[in-house]
Amino acid sequence: MELNLSNLSSITPDNENAMNHVKVLVIGSGPAGLAAALYAARADLSPVVLAGMAIGGQVSITYSVENYPGFPDGIGGAEMVELFQKQAERFGARVEFDTAVEVDFSKYPYFVRTYTKEYLADTIIVATGATPVHLDVPGEVEFTGKGVSYCATCDGWFFREKDVMVVGGGDSALEESLFLTRYAKSVTILHRRDQLRGGAILQKRVFENPKINIRWNTIVTEIIGQGSVASVKLKDTKTDKISILPADGVFIFIGHKPNTQLFQNKLDMDEMGYLVSDKLMQTNLPAVYAAGEVTDSVFRQVITSAGMGAAAAMQAIHFIQDQKGKNS
Ligand code: NAP
Repeated sequence: MELNLSNLSSITPDNENAMNHVKVLVIGSGPAGLAAALYAARADLSPVVLAGMAIGGQVSITYSVENYPGFPDGIGGAEMVELFQKQAERFGARVEFDTAVEVDFSKYPYFVRTYTKEYLADTIIVATGATPVHLDVPGEVEFTGKGVSYCATCDGWFFREKDVMVVGGGDSALEESLFLTRYAKSVTILHRRDQLRGGAILQKRVFENPKINIRWNTIVTEIIGQGSVASVKLKDTKTDKISILPADGVFIFIGHKPNTQLFQNKLDMDEMGYLVSDKLMQTNLPAVYAAGEVTDSVFRQVITSAGMGAAAAMQAIHFIQDQKGKNS
């Protein structure tokens, strides 16, 4: 992609007297954001990470990560995030528990407002990740936190000896179903097709687990209860038959949508709302990079997100070095 630098004013990062002027501003604190921070910090660029209210993104609520090289016995998601943060901070990254609420990319250095501060940034790495998709059925919103959940690691404990439903057939649904069997009396996976999407090892574990049942070709049309979830209304996608199944909890794992609202009409997005970036993690704007799930609808792994974060930071480092060279 050809960079259009015409909207850039001169780059004078060291003599700006404005608010918090940073060389690298990382928006988001999942694996992509924290890996970007590590790389930028090791280049002595003192990156600031806007972590949001809680650090780590989706991986922080993942019970166990078993496919990140270097951890042969797996590692808890929260622990992994803690290690990522510690490593980035060791080299000078600063993590702020604050959220970007406004961006202005029409002037340079770029402007970002958070709940508590204003930043000027020479480079920005957008790593805002993705959030769980909702089913959009009656009862879902009403019973969220009262039986409806999007996080087994967070809420599984509340369902000791209970009967829970898991909606979805991907890796998340399978992994979280297995996790829920620690607590629940039974776990019923409700999947809209007759074949799971999740990986072979997880499928094998699910099929072998005596606490897990699968209802194939089934969609949830309503979540029913009084005060808390009591049952789900189901529809068989082959026969259209409606049935009601008692349930104490409904865990929904049907995919994710990218967190890109802040960048509407500011950065190019695809039809699903993912930021468009090239293989150098470059968005349509110079010095603005995207990394991790916010730009990746395909791989969506901790390792690929971390890799993208590292690549984005390397590009930011090159950009800053190039501009310094031009200005000296
Ligand atoms: P996903 O792979 O997109 O799977 C979503 C599942 O939900 C699919 O089975 C899909 O059905 C179903 N679904 C989607 N919309 C639905 C709706 N409206 N009603 C009912 N069902 C619906 O999402 P994910 O499981 O969250 O995984 C996301 C990514 O993270 C994947 O790349 C996955 O490999 C990765 N991940 C990896 C691990 C791991 O490696 N340990 C763990 C978790 C996630 P269809 O199958 O019919 O499309």
